[in-house]
Amino acid sequence: MSDKYRVVIVGAGVVGSSIARVLSMYENFDITLVEKEPDVGWGASKANTSIVHPGHEEEPDVHPLRAKLCVKGNEMWRTWAKELEIPVTFPGELMVFTNDEEEKKAREYIKLARLNNVPGVRIIYQEELRVLEPNIAREAKGAVYAPTGGLISPFEAVIAVVENAVENGVKLMTETEVLGVKVSEGRVKGVETNRGFIEADIVINAAGLYSDKITHSAGVELNFQVKPRKGEYLLFDEDIPVKPTRVLHTTPTPITKGVYAITTVHGNVLIGPTAEDLPIEAKGDASTSVKGLDYVYQEASKLLREMPPRSRVIRTFAGLRPEPPGGHWLIKAYSDPWGFVNAAGIRSPGFTSAPAIAEYVANLISETFDIKLVKKTNWNPYRRDITRLNNRPLSEIDELIKKNPAYGEIVCYCKTVSKAEILEAVDRMIKTGIKTITLDGLKFRTYAGFGMCQGAFCRWRIAKIVSEKLGVPLYDVTVKRTKYGIGDVKTLWVERKG
Ligand SMILES: Cc1cc2nc3c(=O)[nH]c(=O)nc-3n(C[C@H](O)[C@H](O)[C@H](O)COP(=O)(O)OP(=O)(O)OC[C@H]3O[C@@H](n4cnc5c(N)ncnc54)[C@H](O)[C@@H]3O)c2cc1C
Repeated sequence: MSDKYRVVIVGAGVVGSSIARVLSMYENFDITLVEKEPDVGWGASKANTSIVHPGHEEEPDVHPLRAKLCVKGNEMWRTWAKELEIPVTFPGELMVFTNDEEEKKAREYIKLARLNNVPGVRIIYQEELRVLEPNIAREAKGAVYAPTGGLISPFEAVIAVVENAVENGVKLMTETEVLGVKVSEGRVKGVETNRGFIEADIVINAAGLYSDKITHSAGVELNFQVKPRKGEYLLFDEDIPVKPTRVLHTTPTPITKGVYAITTVHGNVLIGPTAEDLPIEAKGDASTSVKGLDYVYQEASKLLREMPPRSRVIRTFAGLRPEPPGGHWLIKAYSDPWGFVNAAGIRSPGFTSAPAIAEYVANLISETFDIKLVKKTNWNPYRRDITRLNNRPLSEIDELIKKNPAYGEIVCYCKTVSKAEILEAVDRMIKTGIKTITLDGLKFRTYAGFGMCQGAFCRWRIAKIVSEKLGVPLYDVTVKRTKYGIGDVKTLWVERKG
């Protein structure tokens, strides 16, 4: 063994990426972050409600880790977001009740807030509620107010965490699927992948929905199963007259935190999610349904005094929660096989808790494998965001264009994104180690395609920029996994003309 432990992390969702960032702080490790998708954060970490939960909804007796790490994660994101320039706000959260029964249920969360040391949580009634949220529904009777509740841009958060981890020495391998963990003589030896074998002394399983498969291949937790629990959403245009100013949600049910109405950090109204348990084999089913979308719209009308019209929906989507047995996260380091670590079945509030989970995993590794962690002296906590035109004063835009005329070439009018931003995003993707430059990857980095027209105007323009920059034919540029297809359209057009 070399003087460093070779670590493979399976899965570049928010959990695996956060673990990579935290471990990159230490001299002890040589880290490879392995992701089966073409980009980072395309699992549950991309399609969720984007709440940085305060932590007053977790029962410490039943879910001690969730209760502890959620509160800590909420604190840690404040620092991480500053260091990494991630869009985040902390407008506070209101759990709204409309009748006596809901009020009784809501009061339980005041007790949990005390047990979990969540600061400032209290019950508020009509007058104060309307001051805190002028757009609250008329029938709202009161709410549990949690001032530390926040909102984050989930996909940008994962991108930023990975960029910083790579800056600090982590190697990212995308489009690399781990097929199994190799164990011999009671120790992990590495992982078998579709691109060959990767040797490792420590393997960390952060594979989300598929973390059951990975742990079974290591020969531990053979009864552990992760089931998909679907959540459907309606995303509205930015230009809506009545938008929530706080994080609003209905009182939770035994399986969800209720339906939310929020204004995302990018200014869109988001309503959802549903909570539907799917069969274990439906891990790829991220479809939406009329029933589910009607339900969330109906529930959200208990929150807002005026609902955004359905005609202003710009997108519907669904995320799949990686639901472990009993809702218990499986976070554990094993002596047999030595070197195997689970950060598996991380369901909500997994996004909020990810930085704290990462620190917890680093300590587990140190204690279980008897590794004295040594901090790097040159670890860089900072990552700069892409230079954006959106919301920038005209005088500064002028300066940017003088230095680089590509800032004057707007490709996405909905979100005011220039060619220079697309090119910067392409460079960053290449530097991070991403093999295929996808149009979705560029969308998540630049916001081009996130607006009202959902890419109808800009998508082919961006594909053209990528094609020219990389010297590949336009029809070889990909959206996610499939090719963009402009070549096919051209062929059809030529055939019709002929
Ligand atoms: C509908 C919904 C709403 C939610 N709302 C919130 C919220 O508001 N706040 C909050 O805190 N949490 C929320 N959550 C929970 C949160 O999103 C998850 O807890 C968190 O994203 C889990 O992160 P992860 O990294 O474990 O999983 P993922 O993000 O799914 O990452 C796992 C990664 O592993 C990769 N992978 C899988 N198998 C392999 C393999 N064999 N080889 C290589 N790579 C592999 C996947 O492609 C994926 O990228 C919500 C979840 C959902 C679905």
